[in-house]
Amino acid sequence: MVASEPWGRIERIAEGIWGLVSDPFQDRTTLCNGGIVAGRSGVVVIEAFGSDEGARWMNEQARRLTGRSPTHVVLTHYHGDHTGGLRGAVEGDVELLATPVTRDLTRGNRNAPNPILNLATPLDTIRPTEIDLGDRSLIIVPRRGHTDSDITVEVPDASVVFCGDLVWNGMFPNYMDAIPSRLTQAVRLMRATSASTYVPGHGPLSDAASVDRYINLLDDVEAAAHRAMERGITAEQAGSEYRLPAGMADWELFNSDYFVTAIDSWMTELGAP
Ligand SMILES: [Zn+2]
Repeated sequence: MVASEPWGRIERIAEGIWGLVSDPFQDRTTLCNGGIVAGRSGVVVIEAFGSDEGARWMNEQARRLTGRSPTHVVLTHYHGDHTGGLRGAVEGDVELLATPVTRDLTRGNRNAPNPILNLATPLDTIRPTEIDLGDRSLIIVPRRGHTDSDITVEVPDASVVFCGDLVWNGMFPNYMDAIPSRLTQAVRLMRATSASTYVPGHGPLSDAASVDRYINLLDDVEAAAHRAMERGITAEQAGSEYRLPAGMADWELFNSDYFVTAIDSWMTELGAP
């Protein structure tokens, strides 16, 4: 661990790669996880975090750890806990990277900084984009499932994947804007890369085994939605009856509605009346 604050801790993952694990139950300054990846010709910060102070703090950490200012900030998706600190994130000479879908959906957030979003470099939503940092490359992979436009940031030389909110660990995922079948598919594809470290959008750093447990949870939620439809009960009823799979009882809920939201999202996709 190289930094520890009430809102989160920064862990060194590999040479020039750090992950932030936020603690939203303590303090909401950063709110989501994220990271820093340094190469010879640039320093990339992943996410713009929940507040300007949080994003500024992360930029300071990048300077402290790498000796250089961030050159790029990458948004994994548009949710406010990942974009609320955009004004702080782009201070200095920082290039903002986001898919056009993420950029446009972010405009709908409360207090969205439209002039900053207008300057974002659009990421391809079909093919991966390479960010060449001289001695290392980051591959930005377009995906979908948590929202209509998600990306993962992959560092193949160190076997690290920054997953955005496609992966959660120790906290039940938010299905508010999910396309559930796409979410499961995206996570399975990511898992197939057999990376050593997965940085989830929320919760502690994950290894392959924790991503497998999370895939099991996604499948369990799908099964609960199928059972609810067979029984003809509502998502509200199914959500109130839902219990986490064995061994996951310590997972926390950001919001008490999250089981209902998840099952409802599946039932909608499955064509519930
Ligand atoms: Zn999030």
